[in-house]
Amino acid sequence: MGVRVEGIVQGVGFRPFVHGLATGLGLSGLVGNDAGGVFIEVEGAPGAVGRFLDGLRTGPPRLAVVDRVTTRDLETRGRGGFAIVDSAATGGEAPGEGRALVSWDSATCDDCLRELHDPADRRYRYPFINCTGCGPRFTIVTDVPYDRPRTTMAGFAMCGPCAAEYADPADRRFHAQPVCCPACGPSPALLPAAAPPDDPVAAARALLADGAVLAVKGLGGYHLAARAADEGAVAALRARKHRAAKPFAVMVPDMAAARALCVIDAAEEGLLTGPRRPIVLARRRPAAPLAAAVAPGNAALGLMLPYTPLHHLLVTEPLVMTSGNVSDEPIVHRDDDALKRLDGIADAFLVHDRPIHTPADDSVVRVFRGRPLPVRRSRGYAPEPVPIPAGPPVLACGAELKNTFCLTRDGQAFLSHHIGDLENYETLRAYEDGIAHFRRLFDVTPELLAHDPHPEYLSTKYALEQHLPVIAVQHHHAHIASCLADNGVPGPVIGVAFDGTGFGTDGTLWGGEFLVADLHGFERAGHLEPVPMPGGAAAVREPWRMAAAYGVPDDLPVARRPGWDTVAAMARRRVNAPLTSSMGRLFDAVAAVLGVRDRVHYEGQAAIELEQRADPSEPAAYRASINGTDRFTVTGADLVEAVVADVRANVPVPLIAARFHNAAAALVVDAATRIRDTTGLGTVALSGGVFQNMFLLERAVSGLTDAGFDVLTHHRVPPNDGGISLGQAAVATAQFT
Ligand code: ZN
Ligand code: ZN
Ligand code: FE
Repeated sequence: MGVRVEGIVQGVGFRPFVHGLATGLGLSGLVGNDAGGVFIEVEGAPGAVGRFLDGLRTGPPRLAVVDRVTTRDLETRGRGGFAIVDSAATGGEAPGEGRALVSWDSATCDDCLRELHDPADRRYRYPFINCTGCGPRFTIVTDVPYDRPRTTMAGFAMCGPCAAEYADPADRRFHAQPVCCPACGPSPALLPAAAPPDDPVAAARALLADGAVLAVKGLGGYHLAARAADEGAVAALRARKHRAAKPFAVMVPDMAAARALCVIDAAEEGLLTGPRRPIVLARRRPAAPLAAAVAPGNAALGLMLPYTPLHHLLVTEPLVMTSGNVSDEPIVHRDDDALKRLDGIADAFLVHDRPIHTPADDSVVRVFRGRPLPVRRSRGYAPEPVPIPAGPPVLACGAELKNTFCLTRDGQAFLSHHIGDLENYETLRAYEDGIAHFRRLFDVTPELLAHDPHPEYLSTKYALEQHLPVIAVQHHHAHIASCLADNGVPGPVIGVAFDGTGFGTDGTLWGGEFLVADLHGFERAGHLEPVPMPGGAAAVREPWRMAAAYGVPDDLPVARRPGWDTVAAMARRRVNAPLTSSMGRLFDAVAAVLGVRDRVHYEGQAAIELEQRADPSEPAAYRASINGTDRFTVTGADLVEAVVADVRANVPVPLIAARFHNAAAALVVDAATRIRDTTGLGTVALSGGVFQNMFLLERAVSGLTDAGFDVLTHHRVPPNDGGISLGQAAVATAQFT
């Protein structure tokens, strides 16, 4: 029988696994790789062949993902034994069509860790130990098919012992492309150093202990590291990086150290210790021994565990590990670039000579009701595809902030790593390089481009320059479509899209939207009542402007800000004040009125701090009126008015913040109920960056469930603009098939 296995089946120990499975069942035949995946010829007792096919699906190696197993009859050849054949030497099977998939980068496995710490092992304390079950993949692949000459390991010739392991089907390093050892592989170095230290990693540890800021070359790029308990070191890192307030993530050596800093449940522990190893946002312990500058005023802390052998050797106590970049530029991944751009930020560099081909930031995940809710999907996830309906090859160009792009092929959506905010040359270059790389890697020539209709987005301009058929997918429709694709459902649903800003079909800025949507299209069933955004982008940076726009009276403390009268007049007269129905801006207004934050240093900061102030035990909610029949509007100003009244009555801020959040959740339920009454739809999809707010999400989901709705939330891609490209791809596919 001929068997073809498609999916992530190359470079993950799949052939040795097949060999073991077949010989264990007394079957004969052969297994090999080709461009389409893995091909197998197998013969023996029918029962054993059946068990063999079951085993392919149920017991594959750690990093393998089996998408499809197909069989066809072959003449019995009466072979003896079972062989692993050289890919090029076969001729019996038609070549595939480039469907073998590159795996995501995996954290060091337990077997490799045991060797790392075993003084008798030839790779004892070797920072680049890996095997077929773990190690770099996506970030080192330069081309396909995946084998060593087409990785950044191409320049390292294997020594005799490594070559023997690589060639031995019984070895756990059989055809592990990045296999290496101290004799033949990459090595670490500490720069600058007058005399190279014997052990650069130990020397780097000593520098960190002394309070230095270190640039560390990792898997997907450079990190900046400092001891997390060291006030001086963390403050220096913040000042040099020009990062005023955005929280830093912390890498801890093990779960015990993680628990000393945060309260961690079973699902969070599973993510922290799993092979993908994202940063997990967990609830920080109030007495956690951390420098104040790690995550100022933040009740959550981003934690991760070491995911490369180098990290395992370096991290013996909690370290701040933040992307090596200057403010909003992409993560630095090339060595010459690192030495230039991080000069003046890092006191020293812990580097190595295995090049990083594709940069990948750490992924960020939180847990919602026991399931992952991605905040940033990058290292450890990309380029694993998300299944979508089949259609023509599409390139979806994404949005502006937190950009990702997405390429589709045969019902699979290959979502890129995190590109970043597409607003400078460096990021645009990373975007264009990334698209070119994905097209080669997945052998896709797009026939159709999907983009955001915002005319000023660089992703829109990129799409229009390609001279291919394009389709503009409205921003909030893309959000809801991403939630549908995330959950594998076609709709129609009631879509609630709350975010900062997106370009609306009427030329105004949307962001508090109630849609009736499926993958084909949408109708705007209702929205937040638009208000002026005085100063446009300035109102995003300065939430107090939104308080003025919402008509907060002049005698409140927020109105004492210089410029209040001018901005209030701009809002009244609609001078340089575009209209927006944004829910994010309503959160901003309330945060400013409460004195929580009137100026932000990063996107969403005011809403995040407002959420953290809210008292979870407060049951009361304000009420927003809903007006109109055909297309209703929700009067956000009602909520601001209620907040103002409570401020005047000296109600404590945590209660006001909670009543406002409860009100936002209640209006989701009220609006959805209204739409259900006219359409009969009973499923609600929640998307948009505002739904990263756990206080709101929890209450919205509870309220909707109590009202009898089925609720869809995100678990594969982020609800923020990082998921937009998937939504665009799903809509473009639906419209063109
Ligand atoms: Zn391993
Ligand atoms: Zn070697
Ligand atoms: Fe958005």
